[in-house]
Amino acid sequence: MHIALIMAHPDDADIYCGGSIAAWRSMGATVTILIATDGSKGGDFDPEELAQLRSKEATAAAKVLDANLIQLNFPDGELSQSEEFASRLTTEILHLQPNLLVAHAPNDYHADHRAVSAGALIAASFRAPLLWVDPMMGNDFLPNYYVDITPFQDQKEQAILCHTSQGPEHFVEMSRVQGHFRSAQCGQLEGFAEAFRHDPIHPFADIRSLIPPAPPLQPVVVKSPTKNASPKPT
Ligand SMILES: [Zn+2]
Repeated sequence: MHIALIMAHPDDADIYCGGSIAAWRSMGATVTILIATDGSKGGDFDPEELAQLRSKEATAAAKVLDANLIQLNFPDGELSQSEEFASRLTTEILHLQPNLLVAHAPNDYHADHRAVSAGALIAASFRAPLLWVDPMMGNDFLPNYYVDITPFQDQKEQAILCHTSQGPEHFVEMSRVQGHFRSAQCGQLEGFAEAFRHDPIHPFADIRSLIPPAPPLQPVVVKSPTKNASPKPT
């Protein structure tokens, strides 16, 4: 099984789905991360130096997650929903032939992310099913797949922390909050989960065989009051 992710910026894959990448790797899947931009606008640095630094950070993070990395180096902050960009992504996908393509959601808050989403939709076509990642804090996103990343949260955090130029501690904290929330939606308050959405399209109606396990199901048990329980004060 080969999973390909198209993400806009050098730290996106680790922040949005680093736990699931580790889960896919634990299933024996090959994972390839494509980074669309050079990340040169992500801070108050010389853009060229920052692009070089972020490339090294992304390489280190991919090593933590044991994933392949392809950097397309489009200018940061300038991705457009253009034919040229979609065509480049299509060329990459034709070469990689993934079983599943993962990309930013169409309603993501960041314009670069939305451009990736539009390009990924064209690149995926009938070639592979497309899975949207949960946007930052899950605004206006209704997941239909959840991955239990509890065993991989530490690894995810190590990958995020490779992006030293980005103040990564902030993103570790955000990932914990969102991971707990998505896990809690599945009834597991203590765990971590990442959430995704797949909109079924012919011939990719059911993609469960490509997704790592969800948090374990547990019934909601309503305990009956014990016979000798002391009465509640009124
Ligand atoms: Zn981004």
